[in-house]
Amino acid sequence: MAFPDPLERLIRALERFPGVGARSAERMALHVLRSPREEVADLAVALRDARLQTLRCEKCGNVTVDPLCNICADPERDASLVCVVEGPREVEKMESAAIFPGIYHVLLEAFAPREGASPEPAALRSLKERVASGVVKEIVLATAPDREGEGAALIVLEALADSDVKITRLARGLPVGTRLEYLHGEILAEAFRGRRRFQGETKPTTPD
Ligand SMILES: [Zn+2]
Repeated sequence: MAFPDPLERLIRALERFPGVGARSAERMALHVLRSPREEVADLAVALRDARLQTLRCEKCGNVTVDPLCNICADPERDASLVCVVEGPREVEKMESAAIFPGIYHVLLEAFAPREGASPEPAALRSLKERVASGVVKEIVLATAPDREGEGAALIVLEALADSDVKITRLARGLPVGTRLEYLHGEILAEAFRGRRRFQGETKPTTPD
């Protein structure tokens, strides 16, 4: 073993972060050793608190500190309009663009990396329940226009096949492969305004 055990353990732990390889984990770990002790203590507390003090919203699955997120809890939001997104970052993006008056439904495990991800059975089940309650008039599918996003959109469409809720998809003007979180607010607003009824006609952008 090249490093003392506590350092090795830190490197192994950092390596588990998405996009962090062995070399960056090593660099980060050595940076921790050079950092002031108080800073490292703050980091440890922040890591723990972020994990322990956040929940998933009972209604939409977004990250929250209360049982209901502040969007679902806001009586001004239009509960008949539900935007289906992949994760909390997409909610954040839609919110900062300030274009959406409705509420959300987060499809994927809020804390899971995207690779190979598909909608959680629990998220689909709760979406069906929300639709069955009769409050929802329109479901706007805002998953990314890439293979996973299109796949997720089709799965939702299928899951809601028995309901007569109106299902729309963000306009196809979005650059292929662009994740919602990287889009400029104005482009996103246009895609939202141009949303169309979705019947599964769009194909995955890359073949299997
Ligand atoms: Zn919520």
